[in-house]
Amino acid sequence: MLVKACQRSVIQYVCRQKKRLSFARSRRTTIHIHNMPCEVTDRFLILYGSQRGQAQSIAEEICEQATEHGFTADIFCLSDVKKYNVDSETRPIVFVVSTTGDGDPPDTAQKFVKKIKNKSLPHDSFANLCYALLALGDTNYANFCNCGKTIDRRLQQLGAKHFYATGHADDGTGLEVVVDPWIEGLWEALKKTFANMSAADQQGAAHSDSFLKSPSGQEKNSSNLEVDLNLLKLSETDLPRESTPDCSQTETLIPLVASLKHSVAPLSESVLNVPALPPSYLEVILENQSVKEEMVPADKEGYHEVPVTKAVQLTRDDSVKTAILLELDVSEQNMAYQPGDSFDVLCPNRASEVEELLLRLGLQMRNNYAVQIHLLENTSKKAKVPLHIPQGTSLQFILTWCVEIRSIPKKAFIRALADVTQDSSEKRRLLELCSKQGSADYNGFVRDANVCLLDLLRAFPSCLPPLNLLFEHLPKLQSRAYSAASSSLQHPGKVHFVFNVVEFPACPEHSARTGLCTGWLADHVSSIMVPTGMLTASECLDTSALPKVYVRPRPSSTFHLPADPSVPIVMVGPGTGVAPFIGFLQQREKEREVNQEVTFGETWLFFGCRYKEKDFLFREEVERFVQNGTLSHLIVCFSRDDETDAGEKVKRARYVQHNLLLHAKSVASMLLKDKGYLYVCGDAKNMAKDVNDTLLEIIGNELQLDKLETMKTVAGLREEKRYLQDIWS
Ligand code: FAD
Repeated sequence: MLVKACQRSVIQYVCRQKKRLSFARSRRTTIHIHNMPCEVTDRFLILYGSQRGQAQSIAEEICEQATEHGFTADIFCLSDVKKYNVDSETRPIVFVVSTTGDGDPPDTAQKFVKKIKNKSLPHDSFANLCYALLALGDTNYANFCNCGKTIDRRLQQLGAKHFYATGHADDGTGLEVVVDPWIEGLWEALKKTFANMSAADQQGAAHSDSFLKSPSGQEKNSSNLEVDLNLLKLSETDLPRESTPDCSQTETLIPLVASLKHSVAPLSESVLNVPALPPSYLEVILENQSVKEEMVPADKEGYHEVPVTKAVQLTRDDSVKTAILLELDVSEQNMAYQPGDSFDVLCPNRASEVEELLLRLGLQMRNNYAVQIHLLENTSKKAKVPLHIPQGTSLQFILTWCVEIRSIPKKAFIRALADVTQDSSEKRRLLELCSKQGSADYNGFVRDANVCLLDLLRAFPSCLPPLNLLFEHLPKLQSRAYSAASSSLQHPGKVHFVFNVVEFPACPEHSARTGLCTGWLADHVSSIMVPTGMLTASECLDTSALPKVYVRPRPSSTFHLPADPSVPIVMVGPGTGVAPFIGFLQQREKEREVNQEVTFGETWLFFGCRYKEKDFLFREEVERFVQNGTLSHLIVCFSRDDETDAGEKVKRARYVQHNLLLHAKSVASMLLKDKGYLYVCGDAKNMAKDVNDTLLEIIGNELQLDKLETMKTVAGLREEKRYLQDIWS
């Protein structure tokens, strides 16, 4: 696959253990250099943006030579955004980028260039970054090396530092004229950079050592500092000077704010109340025997493996979120469903994360061993071997399909992790995070930051949990539900669903990542993904080549069309919340075709998206519903579009609840007079609550009721199952 082709990593050549300066960004400031002595390996990152492969092959050449010079390099294509994170990178970076067209970035660098060109980025966004850049271009064309120059200029504006002068290689006269000497000089520059980082680190260590002494000169345990951590500033004169510009000559400041790894006073000085250590109750035995190839735990739990026959990106590339529609072929499984039902989808943990976890636990060579789990003798009666971990399956399988390694560790888990952490300051920090006194830090740095086990293991290198501890604390990997966005009347044997790819932006605690299921699905179907309106996989591929997923129906007991088609329905579904209503409307469209004598009630859809042109999901389909009378009223709002089609600025309803208010009379009449149904689907956190508040307002005003009476009326609608919600967060 393209991604694989773009990526290469080189096995570490030199295993010298050095101390590393961590340039990690602190959470609430833009001060970037910690004083904590950490490890330096002579490891750097190569990022390339290539159009025709030249930049890639030069980058690969650098990577190969790196090992010969005693360095270790990781190499990624710039488009491989999940594999690297410039925002928090602490290693030196070498960019190799070409230019294409009229000074444009190569396709693979476009996203990156767009990202760094974002005007809202703070001017010190990349103050942690030190880099060298080799720009490729051709003086026969306008805008020589424009992409490299753009990246260079922008990185400088955003605070990044060169550790080696930029090279501009000209394909018109021969790239090698510049490339070869540039690469030759790179090794010396890298050597100096690492030496400076190491020296600065020792400075930092010396300063932090001095912190560990009490005023009487006696050493203190670093995990229980009693000194006031005032801002420590290493001036340039404290650091070795080098002729090559390098990143360690920046002002070095010790953060005064807490992070996942570090606390500040008063927490750092507090006596802690920590939860009792949860007693271990499992014994895990790894047996060196071959395990027959495992299937996902499908049959037992009613899952079926079905092909994905269509994957359509419903949003434009420049849209804030990516919405994807999938069509599954469920004909062979005879999976009946009604519009309004959902489907559970099984998703695995990311292969790269499982691999990293195995490596971190030192179990990478035993990934295929069979796992046997027993209860330890004398454990409490309540303790049970977790049912979601099957006996005799391989470790790899369990970590991939059975436990949610992305789950946010609970305090009890952190307490247990602290117990298997060697380093005293790391142990202290873990204890703080699970303590009563450290609640705010737990909420901020663990829970709200969506930190997972691997993030903790990365942050606390001396923590080495045994397998039984993981199996005692990691919850079952849950399937994810998706509402059917189709009617089997219109698509026999098929089910559609639509989802947004969840994105967790990079933060100091972890790099950017996508939601477990939505990110996996997006990758899994990428080979057949097409933009809206294009020919789809089922039309051009044979089914055996299609990606497959494990699904099972998840019927809803109430969220269905009313039995009496003559009653009006009001559907409120912004974004992907429109999914079940597409199913409703497809069903209605077909019913109207075959039952022309039947009277159908009014059908209203309140939909919302950000931009009309970028993320108006199912636009053509809903417009067709309006044209053929299936939908009486389509009311759409655009939360970020301020202009009319004619280009005039207007102030109009931004969210679905605003439009509901604008149509308050009709809505109230349909619900109260005509015994209509109100359906709400989508985001539980904000939208559903706002819609509920608006409904209270509409009904209170219409019936002239006080608050209590209004609430009772709305509660009545719920009881009659005429106010129905299908909401998720
Ligand atoms: P996860 O890795 O599980 O992460 C999601 C978690 O992260 C949630 O806890 C959420 O609160 C949080 N989160 C989300 N975004 C961010 C962010 N940017 N920053 C920080 N935290 C964040 N989803 C659909 O898209 N379409 C549907 O039709 C649909 N139907 C559903 C029907 C039902 C009955 C239910 C229960 C849920 C439905 N969902 C639907 C939600 C869906 O099941 C998943 O929860 C969702 O797709 C996210 O899954 P994930 O594994 O990618 O994310």
